[in-house]
Amino acid sequence: MQPRRVAVLGGGPGGLYAARLLKLANPACEVRVYEQGGPDTTFGFGVGLAAGTQRRLEAADPDTLRDLVAAGLRHDMTMQIGDAVAEVHNDRLIGIARTELLSVLQRHAEKAGVVLEFGARRTAGELDADVVVAADGVSSATRESGTFGGRIQVGRGLYLWCGTDFALDAAVFAPVETEHGTFVTHAYPYTGGRSTFLIETDEQTWRRAGFDATTASLEAPGTPFEASDETSLRYLEQVFAEQLRGRPLIGNRTRWLRFRTVRCDRWAEGNTVLLGDAAHTAHFSIGSGTKMAMEDAIALVDALAEGPDVTTAFTRYEEVRRPAVERLQELARRSQLWWESFPSRTGLPVERLMVAYMSRAGNVPLDRFAQTGPDVVGAALRQYGGGHPPADDLVGWVLDRPLTHGDRSFPTRTAVPELERLWVDLHDPWSPEGDALVARARGTDGVLVAGPAARPALLTRLDLAERVRLETGTMTAVEGSAALRDDLAAGLVSGRTDLVALSEETA
Ligand SMILES: Cc1cc2nc3c(=O)[nH]c(=O)nc-3n(C[C@H](O)[C@H](O)[C@H](O)COP(=O)(O)OP(=O)(O)OC[C@H]3O[C@@H](n4cnc5c(N)ncnc54)[C@H](O)[C@@H]3O)c2cc1C
Repeated sequence: MQPRRVAVLGGGPGGLYAARLLKLANPACEVRVYEQGGPDTTFGFGVGLAAGTQRRLEAADPDTLRDLVAAGLRHDMTMQIGDAVAEVHNDRLIGIARTELLSVLQRHAEKAGVVLEFGARRTAGELDADVVVAADGVSSATRESGTFGGRIQVGRGLYLWCGTDFALDAAVFAPVETEHGTFVTHAYPYTGGRSTFLIETDEQTWRRAGFDATTASLEAPGTPFEASDETSLRYLEQVFAEQLRGRPLIGNRTRWLRFRTVRCDRWAEGNTVLLGDAAHTAHFSIGSGTKMAMEDAIALVDALAEGPDVTTAFTRYEEVRRPAVERLQELARRSQLWWESFPSRTGLPVERLMVAYMSRAGNVPLDRFAQTGPDVVGAALRQYGGGHPPADDLVGWVLDRPLTHGDRSFPTRTAVPELERLWVDLHDPWSPEGDALVARARGTDGVLVAGPAARPALLTRLDLAERVRLETGTMTAVEGSAALRDDLAAGLVSGRTDLVALSEETA
C-alpha cells in the first residue's frame, strides 16, 4: 500500500530531496516538509558534490541535478606546503553554496507539488501522516527521543567552518606552523565570489592559542545565538594571510567544534524513518554528508515504491543503504584519524603528501591515482625511488626500489632483515594501545609490524608503522599478504613504512 500522506521533518538537503522524489513517484500522495527555519535562513558556506554523487543524482532526477551543477563551481585540488604546491585536475568536482543548494531543492520540491511550511519547530510525534521522514539533522530530536539506538562518537580534533569573500582558484589543503602549533585549512571555492574555508587543529595547539577560553566565553549566558568566535577568526586571518590574499575570514555562527559521528542501531520505528545526518554522519574530510542524505532519499523513495507496506519498505531501505553508509563511515573514520595526525607528516615533499592524502583511507589505488594525477604521482615516485616506473608495472617498480636507512642498505623494499616483531591488532593507531606499541618500538634497530591478514588490519598497521617511523625514527617493515601489494606500495610511497614483508597469507 502506498502512503497517502507523508510528513518530512527538516528542510535540509535530505528532507527536501526525499519530498520531491516521493511526490514525483507518487503524485497522489500529499507531501509536506516542516522546517523550523525560514526559506533562506540556513547557515554554513559551501558543500562539495563529487562526480559519483552527481551520477547518482542524475539517474534519480536529472532536472534537479542540472540546476545544481549550473549553480555550482567546478574546481581542481591543490596541496600547499610553504611555497611548494601539488595540483590535481578534477573534471566534475563542484562546490555549491548551501543556500543555493537549498533554494534549488525548495524550488524543485514545490514544482513537484510538495507543500513547504517554514518557521515552526515540530516533533515527529505531532505530525499526522502515514509516514514521517525524520530528516532533522545531526542533533535530531527524533533520534534522541526515540528507540533507534543512536550513538555519538566525538572526534579528538577541533574544526571551525568559515568563509572568504572571494573564490579561490582551486581547493586548497594547506598546513601552517605557528608558535602554538599547526593549523590546516581545507578550503574550496563554491561561487564566483565565495569560498568555504574550514580550519582544523589539534587540542594542544587549540589550548596554547587560547581558543579553549574564547570557546568557553561563547557558551556564557546571554551570548547571541549567531555570534562567531571573532578572536579566532582574526588570529587565523593572520595565519592564513597568504592563502587568503590578505582578505578577511567571514564567520557565520562560526565556533570551534569537534566532529560528531552519529551511528544508529535502527533507522525506523513505527511509521517514522530517519534519513541523512539524523541517522548517520561521516567526517567532513570525505565531503559526503550531503551526498549520503540525498542518496538515502533516493533509496527510501525506491523502497516505498516497491511496497507492499511501510514496514517492509523501511526494512528494505535500511538493507540497501546501511552497507554503503557503513563503508563510507569507515573511510571517513580513517580519513579523520589521518587529518587529526596531519602535522606529523608535513616533512614529506608535497607530491608524496598528496599521494598519502589520496591513499589515507585505502579507497584510491596508486595506479588509479597515477592516471588522474600523472604529474603529481610522477614527481612523488621520482622523490621516492628516482627515475620513472614502467607504465605497466608501477607497483612492482615501487617494491623493487633499493633503500638506504642510516648505515644499512637494502637491494629492494621487500628484502626484510631479521627484526623485532610487533603484533598489531587494534582499531585506532593513535589510541593508548597504539602509544604503547610505539613505545615498544623506540630504541630498537627496526620492527616488523605484523598482524591479522585482512585488509582493514593491514591499513591500520601501515598507519601504526608510520607513527613509529615519524615519532621514533625506527626503521619499519610492514608484513602483508602479497594480494595486498597495491596497499603496501602506496604505503611505501606515502612514507608509512620503509620496507614491506610479503606473505602468502590470504587476505
Ligand atoms: C564543517 C562541515 C563541512 C561539511 N562539508 C560538506 C561537504 O563538503 N560536502 C557534503 O556533502 N557535506 C558536507 N557537510 C555535511 C552536510 O552539511 C550535512 O551532512 C548535510 O547537510 C545533511 O543533510 P540533512 O538534510 O540530513 O540535514 P541538515 O542539512 O542538517 O538539515 C536538517 C534540517 O532540519 C531542520 N530541523 C531540525 N530539527 C527540526 C525540528 N524539530 N522541526 C523543524 N525543523 C527541524 C533544521 O533546521 C535543518 O534545516 C559538512 C558538514 C560540516 C559540519
